[in-house]
Amino acid sequence: MNIRERYEQFEIDHLSERAAKSSLSKGRELPEQKCEIRTEYQRDRDRILHSKAFRRLKHKTQVFLSPEGDHYRTRLTHTLEVSQISRTIARSLKLNEDLTEAIAMGHDLGHTPFGHTGERILNQLCEKSFSHNEQSLRVVEMLEIRNGNQGLNLTFEVRDGIRNHPLNCSPATLEGQIVSISDRIAYINHDIDDASRAGIIKEGQIPKKFFEHLGYTHGQRINTMIVDVIRNSMDKDIVSMSAETDKYTRELRDFLFENVYYNKVAKSEEEKATFIIGKIFEYYTIHFDALPEFYLKIYEKSNSSKSEIIKDYIAGMTDRYAMKIFEELYIPKPWRQ
Ligand code: MG
Repeated sequence: MNIRERYEQFEIDHLSERAAKSSLSKGRELPEQKCEIRTEYQRDRDRILHSKAFRRLKHKTQVFLSPEGDHYRTRLTHTLEVSQISRTIARSLKLNEDLTEAIAMGHDLGHTPFGHTGERILNQLCEKSFSHNEQSLRVVEMLEIRNGNQGLNLTFEVRDGIRNHPLNCSPATLEGQIVSISDRIAYINHDIDDASRAGIIKEGQIPKKFFEHLGYTHGQRINTMIVDVIRNSMDKDIVSMSAETDKYTRELRDFLFENVYYNKVAKSEEEKATFIIGKIFEYYTIHFDALPEFYLKIYEKSNSSKSEIIKDYIAGMTDRYAMKIFEELYIPKPWRQ
């Protein structure tokens, strides 16, 4: 018995009957020889961690466009928080911690530059609808290159969890459900923290009921939600919060929408971001052959339309790269001898 087989046996002996066991995975599109050391889900997590799209997350906006301060969340730190919350819940419920970690690490890989502003504008520009979760799937299925092949060839369960992480989707595994709920726990809490840091919301502005029911500090509120999910989901076929905590969490989310996501200060740069992405899209629509070689090759090999390929290129950009490309395409360079 090698190390991987020993661990697969450990999962069968010790995880909940509801857990996704790596040895029972529905597998990969292209069959591969198994690793001697790692389980299939551990391998998927590592592939995502080593991908270029994962490294780009550090320069993608979470809520605030290209924030100046070093303490604001980026997509990367958001992803790590989601991963940590997911693993705590998975371990407590005796579900598969490795699977939740792999899904969490990959869930936002398809996020555009400039946060949801970028997502909205690409949805308008591309002939097919655009959503970051579908794009995350496209990244792991065709835009990342591994051993000369397109895609990371991940297991079904990881791909399903990535695709179905937004609210109102139905992941096939409880581990996928954990990531979906952990994503919400992470962003609701860290967005309050970041908005307070930015002075966009003042402490007195947050209704007291949220402090009383969820906790007075960032840490307390996260803890309340995590503990509630664990208590409420133990030995059940669904991962969810209790009705009461869910109610306050939803209301807190609504509060954030009204006061942060649609706030003028946070949104002040949004028009510029929309303009930049619109102009880059327009440029490559006219000059498709000017796209990087990589994307032209993907176009040749896939049956995607030109606008989808342009969308892939733009969606993969970090905030600063999008600004650099805009500058290269539209701003005259100083004349030098
Ligand atoms: Mg997320």
